Amino acid sequence: MLNKEVTNIKGVGEKFAEDLEIMGISTVENLFNYFPYKYDFFEVKPLSELIHEDKVTIEGRVVHEPSLTFYGKKKSRLTFTIEVENIAIKAVMFNRAFAKKHIHAGEIVTLTGKWDAHRLQITVSNYKTGPADVHAKIQPVYSVKGKVTNAKLRKTIQSAINGYGKEIPELLPEQFLNQYKLPTRRNAYEVMHFPPNRKALKHARRRFVYEEFLIFQLKMQLLRKYKREATQGNQQQYDPQKIQEFIQLFPFSLTEAQNKALKQILADMKSPFRMNRLLQGDVGSGKTAVAAICLYASVTAGKQGALMVPTEILAEQHFQSLQELFGDKAKIGLLTGSVKGKKRKELVAAIERDEIHIVVGTHALIQDDVRFHDLGFAIVDEQHRFGVEQRRALRDKGLLPDVLFMTATPIPRTLAITAFGDMDVSVIDEMPVGRKAVETYWTKENTIERVLEFMQKHVMQGEQAYVICPLIEESDKLDIQNAVDLYHQLNEYYLPSIEVGLMHGRLSNEEKDTVMKKFAANEIQILVSTTVVEVGVNVPNATIMVIYDAERFGLSQLHQLRGRVGRGKSQSYCILISDPKGEVGKERMRIMTETTNGFELSEQDLKLRGPGDFFGKKQSGIPEFKVADMVHDYRALETARKDAAEIIDLNLLETKEDYYQLKCYLEENSFIEDKLD
Ligand code: ADP
Ligand code: MG
Repeated sequence: MLNKEVTNIKGVGEKFAEDLEIMGISTVENLFNYFPYKYDFFEVKPLSELIHEDKVTIEGRVVHEPSLTFYGKKKSRLTFTIEVENIAIKAVMFNRAFAKKHIHAGEIVTLTGKWDAHRLQITVSNYKTGPADVHAKIQPVYSVKGKVTNAKLRKTIQSAINGYGKEIPELLPEQFLNQYKLPTRRNAYEVMHFPPNRKALKHARRRFVYEEFLIFQLKMQLLRKYKREATQGNQQQYDPQKIQEFIQLFPFSLTEAQNKALKQILADMKSPFRMNRLLQGDVGSGKTAVAAICLYASVTAGKQGALMVPTEILAEQHFQSLQELFGDKAKIGLLTGSVKGKKRKELVAAIERDEIHIVVGTHALIQDDVRFHDLGFAIVDEQHRFGVEQRRALRDKGLLPDVLFMTATPIPRTLAITAFGDMDVSVIDEMPVGRKAVETYWTKENTIERVLEFMQKHVMQGEQAYVICPLIEESDKLDIQNAVDLYHQLNEYYLPSIEVGLMHGRLSNEEKDTVMKKFAANEIQILVSTTVVEVGVNVPNATIMVIYDAERFGLSQLHQLRGRVGRGKSQSYCILISDPKGEVGKERMRIMTETTNGFELSEQDLKLRGPGDFFGKKQSGIPEFKVADMVHDYRALETARKDAAEIIDLNLLETKEDYYQLKCYLEENSFIEDKLD
């Protein structure tokens, strides 16, 4: 059994077991799974192939006895010359006086260290007497803690493999091993820890990548199936006739993509299973319109609806537009942090008595004292901004509400099938007709004069502009100061012809509201703001988006900001003011100017930033893989996803002997309890 404690391994005593425990290793299996975080390749290469400053390995004959000099307090330097390919190479070794005893003129040595191509010199970090060892060419390097050294760890793993290697079960059905030419699990473990050559290592790694993805996909898909089946009983008997009439009220007809998403959501609502769906669509693609129709559908079924958004501004904006849209068809409530005291009490009571049909709000919506009469449909907008806890809280408000998560951050497919693998996904991948793409320019701060003139020209034609200052933390005084300073500068510059407004997170809600209203009414023409306007704010007359220090934002965020313009009939512009230092920053600016397709941008963003950073720190739910990398190993992920779907569809885990180990593994690593939120 592999879940035996490490003390069962030959050579591991209580003390060492404690040291291992600190590294999270308590069982034999843990030890096997403790993979190296990198490998050093000690391959002897011809001198001509060595790269300056690289870590290299060379082999040669010592020309003369090493000379040892001491300096400083306890420091020493050992120098000698070796002959490699008839060329004299100088070797320097620091603070290893004892090596003098091992290295002798006329003998062959193998040296590893940093190569200086100009001086033909190697600064030795590792040495070995005799020729290079064929088997020691690839050295795994583990991340170790405390008293555990790499050497000791390697020895222990070797001992564990000797003692328990035979017991490593094969999880993958033979069919997969053959089909993808993967090494057995046992072999792969051995190779990961003691790679004989690059090729074997590559295949071992490939095996674990596939295994990790397959298990992950099986978990996600089983979970999804389980969730569906566990949540029977919330059919919503909405009124299709009324829904049609409602749709007719819009001054436009729905795009095909909107219709398709709507159909999928309505089907979920009608089904006995609880909906757990993600609605993705670029900014301005018309998600909110779809959301409104669904909320109404729920009302016609005699249930309540809730719309939870990340900011108060957005809540108020939705509240207003829903009120206009619904007229007397439904009673809408607004519940945010600034609804307090008696007003709040009354509202909460009205919600509980079913006198309010649709509640729009922020986090305030999920406080304990907010109880619904019968919540049937809950929408969480920009869901990646809410943590899992908050999502769960909202879900728990209703008995079994259908839940729709909306996001305008197009999620790369890779992430969609990992982070959201347990959800159904609808995509609005089409913009309403007549939208003009926002023209995007990238410029440095020294051309700011031209940008200001450009804004002036357009404002004089009756249009409006946003000027965004980066804000990393809503509470960061410095960032707010940036916005305030810029506001004063612009105000002075444009006086008296243009009204400049200021918006940031430190303003009270009333102040924010006033500013926003003035901007919407074109009483303010240029709005200087931090990123509070990022999400959802809708002022169609605004055509220019200027973003300061644009390199401080990720691609998706820049795209979100850009989405604030281009909502009306006139041509819109986005101007990125940025002087990025690094290549990645420049690349981001370039990509922004070249594409307006959110999905394309998000894929690029993922590549540039990596999965961990994609959603920012708050996002949970992105799995961590030991070996696999979902960006680089994307194809394996796709393959594993298809294989997992087939395994579940054909019920192979239950019926096929070859899948027994896999089934056991999934059961032992019981996942349903800890993932069911
Ligand atoms: P999102 O929530 O996806 O950012 P919205 O629903 O706010 O998008 O829609 C953006 C703008 O486009 C709104 O002004 C809305 O009235 C309009 N709109 C939505 N759907 C359509 C459509 N099918 N045709 C024309 N305009 C639309
Ligand atoms: Mg929206």
